[in-house]
Amino acid sequence: MSEQSCAPTERGILIIGLGLIGGSLAAALKEAGFEGRIVACDRDADEVARGIDMGLIDAGSTELAPWVADSSLIVLAVPVLAMEAVLRELAPHLGDQVITDVGSTKGAIEAAVERVFGGMPPRFVPGHPIAGSEKSGVAASNPALYRRHKVILTPRADTDPDALARVRALWAACGAELLEMDVARHDQVLARTSHLPHLLAFSLVDTLARQDERLEIFRYAAGGFRDFTRIAGSDPVMWRDIFSANREAVLGALDEFEAGVARLRRAMTDNDGDAMLAVFDRASHARQYFDTLLNQTSYQAMEQRNIRYRVTPGGDVRGRIRVPGDKSISHRSIMLGALAEGVTEVHGFLEGEDSLATLQAFREMGVAIEGPHQGRVTIHGVGLHGLTAPAGPLYVGNSGTAMRLFAGLLAGQAFDTELTGDVSLNKRPMGRVADPLREMGAVIETAEGGRPPLTIRGGQALRGIRYDMPMASAQVKSCLLLAGLYAEGETRVREPAPTRDHTERMLNGFGYAVQRAADEAWLQGDGRLTASPIDVPSDISSAAFYLVAAAITPGSDLLLEHVGTNPTRIGVINILKAMGADLELLNPREVGGEPVADIRVRHAPLKGIDIPVDQVPLAIDEFPVLFIAAANAEGVTRLRGAEELRVKESDRIKAMADGLAILGVENTVHPDGIDIVGRADASDTHVAHYRGGHVDSLGDHRIAMAFAIAALRAESEIVIDDCANVATSFPGFVDLARRVGLALEEQEVS
Ligand code: NAP
Repeated sequence: MSEQSCAPTERGILIIGLGLIGGSLAAALKEAGFEGRIVACDRDADEVARGIDMGLIDAGSTELAPWVADSSLIVLAVPVLAMEAVLRELAPHLGDQVITDVGSTKGAIEAAVERVFGGMPPRFVPGHPIAGSEKSGVAASNPALYRRHKVILTPRADTDPDALARVRALWAACGAELLEMDVARHDQVLARTSHLPHLLAFSLVDTLARQDERLEIFRYAAGGFRDFTRIAGSDPVMWRDIFSANREAVLGALDEFEAGVARLRRAMTDNDGDAMLAVFDRASHARQYFDTLLNQTSYQAMEQRNIRYRVTPGGDVRGRIRVPGDKSISHRSIMLGALAEGVTEVHGFLEGEDSLATLQAFREMGVAIEGPHQGRVTIHGVGLHGLTAPAGPLYVGNSGTAMRLFAGLLAGQAFDTELTGDVSLNKRPMGRVADPLREMGAVIETAEGGRPPLTIRGGQALRGIRYDMPMASAQVKSCLLLAGLYAEGETRVREPAPTRDHTERMLNGFGYAVQRAADEAWLQGDGRLTASPIDVPSDISSAAFYLVAAAITPGSDLLLEHVGTNPTRIGVINILKAMGADLELLNPREVGGEPVADIRVRHAPLKGIDIPVDQVPLAIDEFPVLFIAAANAEGVTRLRGAEELRVKESDRIKAMADGLAILGVENTVHPDGIDIVGRADASDTHVAHYRGGHVDSLGDHRIAMAFAIAALRAESEIVIDDCANVATSFPGFVDLARRVGLALEEQEVS
């Protein structure tokens, strides 16, 4: 939508206080094509005159009364402590106008409004644009000031919805993003993110300037000083008002800051390099982490790009590659490394958003963590009882695994914590872990419907339980075992069907005994974890694409290094072997309790099989590419018992069936599976097995990668739409594909 079309429909807008903020609002509205009248009142006649000269306002004066009747919306843009006087002057002239303000603190303004009107009028919608500059006055007005900046509104339950909608429209027309929060939270958040930094900048510049009367040292001030103190050039009156109006919250933030400085001072006095490193490291990574969070707009923009793959047939699939690390093991390596005694070195860490969120959460609980740098992370473990209370809620992004595992290990801590995630995670039910944890004596509060955020009360004495899981869930099992580390006695979990056992294996790898027999795993509380180096195995789900690529391509010879071969994950290896693939597991070894091997794959003719039902759960993510193997086999491959495939990122059975049909590969879809008629003959000598074509991945990364591999044996080019998601799930897929010999081109389609 163009900004022109979102111009508000107000009859007229009155801006009281024509400075930087009020003037920029007028400028932005004019630029957005607002056709009503904009008038302003300011106690400085010159500012009004300048505003008219600049074409920002149509009229104005130092008097307020003449302009009220003809305006339908009034914006208060004076300094915070001037608001009350302005409101008193305004009150007798008001009709049904909508009123809003731009003040940087909200509690004090709300109190002023209540004093003047005897309550909050429903048509008053408090607001605060998070945009500005050190400059003041109308001359500094900038029509782009609010574009892509946030504006916080603090409406109440009884705020008139029409008034709220109109204030939203006002700011939306200026290109701003709107947020709503309550007044107290606004003042707390701003005290920390804006007011405290300004206070420190004012204080630092003032202190240094006094020490050096001739300001000699400022000549040597380098970029860092200039950046840090730039905001000390801001308007003194405005800031005096803000600190007075938000006194309590700023004092609270200042107390926290002083305690932090005192801790650093102590570390320096004691010459405690580790303590200093821990603080600097935490801060430096927090900064980078917040950058990635803040950049989410560009990240989402990237996701929305339509990336198309064009893959030309041919290629020989040779070489030696290592695909990215396993996500489940990356997560657990941080968790167990943090709780272990000693220093854990991790290699091959998957630097995905979710595992970075887990790293950050442990940093916030006092664990010094270096990296990640090119997959290397060093964790200075604090022991089972060494975590410290985080300053705020712990954020785990989109990771259900992280939230459920954290719930278990936080239930046993001495301090309270709050666990929260992104919008989609916050919709997922957590009752399946909260209920059994409560049985163990944990105190956990959830939002409505058992959903996050989870508030976990510390200092509870947990006791071991014997839990029969109603569903087969590795996350629930892991959660309870982690809580069991802190429980008295034995914690025992029974699973109705086998699930991934990374937690049990890795605990053993860290020297913590977990027993297993049949369908049960159990451990005794109150042991110790000992640091252990971890070279995170490559993710077998990512390796699967190259396994199939080499298996179907004559002349291929590919070595995949350091692939995780956990028995709960190797369905793809078992199925390919059953089809006749030439796969060799070389150099089998254990890393932190996890089995790993290098896998050598060479071409061999494949034959269609009935996929054993017991292998289906062990290969569930790998079926898209296994269907490509089936298309390149001789005879029919039949899959049953895979209804779960229909509720993944897409209905994978249907999406694959449609794509295969486009290539001319005959198939029949069943409710829980598919039959695929392979196109090879027994000798597998024909170069091409099916035609090329244009397929849609439906945004499903695994479908996109599977059809890229299919092109190796196509007659002509395969074009695949909607491939942007591949980059997030498997960073480096395209580069690795090219390295082993695929002719893959990426195109951005408008
Ligand atoms: P500014 O450039 O100094 O503008 C404020 C204007 O209001 C000045 O022209 C001032 O006149 C006038 N004024 C003061 N008291 C008045 C009264 N009783 N009646 C009529 N006019 C009066 O300040 P600003 O930066 O635009 O800030 C305005 C508001 O925006 C403040 O509440 C501030 O908290 C908020 N805000 C500022 C920023 C920022 O970065 N600047 C960001 C977000 C929100 P005099 O010059 O004669 O005093």
